[in-house]
Amino acid sequence: AVGLDVARVRADFPVLHQRVHGKPLAYLDNAASSQKPKPVVDAMTAVYEQYYSNVHRGVHQLSQRSTDAFEAARNKVAGFINAARSEEIVFTRGATEALNLVASSYGRRFCQEGDEVVLTHLEHHSNIVPWQLLRDEKGVQLKVAPIGDDGSVTAQDVIDLIGPRTKIVAISQVSNALGTVVPVQEIAAAAHAQGAVVVVDGCQAVPHQPVDVQALGADFYAFSGHKMYGPTGIGALYGRYDLLTEMPPYQGGGEMIASVTFEQSTWKKPPHKFEAGTPAIVEVIGLGAAVDYLAELGMANVAAHEAELLAYATQRLDAIEGLRIHGRAPEKAGILSFTMDQAHAHDVGTIVDRAGVAIRAGHHCAQPAMERFGISSTVRASLGIYNTHEEIDQLADALGVVKEIFG
Ligand code: PMP
Repeated sequence: AVGLDVARVRADFPVLHQRVHGKPLAYLDNAASSQKPKPVVDAMTAVYEQYYSNVHRGVHQLSQRSTDAFEAARNKVAGFINAARSEEIVFTRGATEALNLVASSYGRRFCQEGDEVVLTHLEHHSNIVPWQLLRDEKGVQLKVAPIGDDGSVTAQDVIDLIGPRTKIVAISQVSNALGTVVPVQEIAAAAHAQGAVVVVDGCQAVPHQPVDVQALGADFYAFSGHKMYGPTGIGALYGRYDLLTEMPPYQGGGEMIASVTFEQSTWKKPPHKFEAGTPAIVEVIGLGAAVDYLAELGMANVAAHEAELLAYATQRLDAIEGLRIHGRAPEKAGILSFTMDQAHAHDVGTIVDRAGVAIRAGHHCAQPAMERFGISSTVRASLGIYNTHEEIDQLADALGVVKEIFG
């Protein structure tokens, strides 16, 4: 398809068609979590109503159907981010678990005291804290690349920190707090030249632009289903197959073993080695449906739609006196993080909610990025496939009310 038919997209999302405080809902909190289209909800209902069963171990018909659908979803996810093979997709609870898996399994096995992990200042807490846990256990050093005044992170600023002791470079592709797009490809090439592996937090990229993990040079790539119009409780870790093969299990239990005796157990091959216990069967199948949905829209169309909306929203918000947008990197995704002279972020959030507008106020799990700009919180409007100019206008008008009340 050429271009996004937003009216058609909106028709797929029942939840959008409601009033909040008597006003039409304008859902602009997509970076926190997105809404779910009918095909995702229907796919999940179909599992429960027609063929629900545990996977991978049943000889009976329902189990085979569930297993087929489950593994088909893995194929879809692999294709969506251009993994070389579906065995490179490990299902996790979300990006947080995916990043913890890499830090625990790869980090503990391959990092020694004095080795270095390179991060950026704009990381989400879930791409900071797992590395701090590794630091405290193994004595690795964390090096943090700075954020420029416009919210950008340049490749050079990260590359300057990469040296012979660098084992891991862990960076977001897109900042959830500022919208900044980080030049992952260039950084990855430099990291590989020093023998480091590259871990990418792709939470805010996968739902909004085409992603090709091989072209990016990502060795690991983490993302969450619930931000890409899929269910909660499911996400994925892409890992290069040779690396997954070398890594120890993350958790032990059923599903991940080849054999168990009290003396010794052996593991299945990746990805099953990293999927201990009964997985989130229905959520995995729902994630597969979300991938189908996005693939059908076309990620280039999605990106173009959101870029156009971002430009419009930036212009509308810039016209509001006393409002400051934080994060104006030249390469930016559909996230508008701002403060207002007149009012605290939480007050802004409460007032625009009265106008039917759902946005987020807070530190967005990126306290260091907030601190970089001398603030503790921002108001954040984050865009998705179903958002419209009218909703941006609704937000801007509501911010006008904030000014009246506090101004
Ligand atoms: N990284 C980024 C950039 C995010 O935006 C988020 C979610 N806000 C996460 C990681 C964590 O994702 P989850 O809570 O779904 O595990």
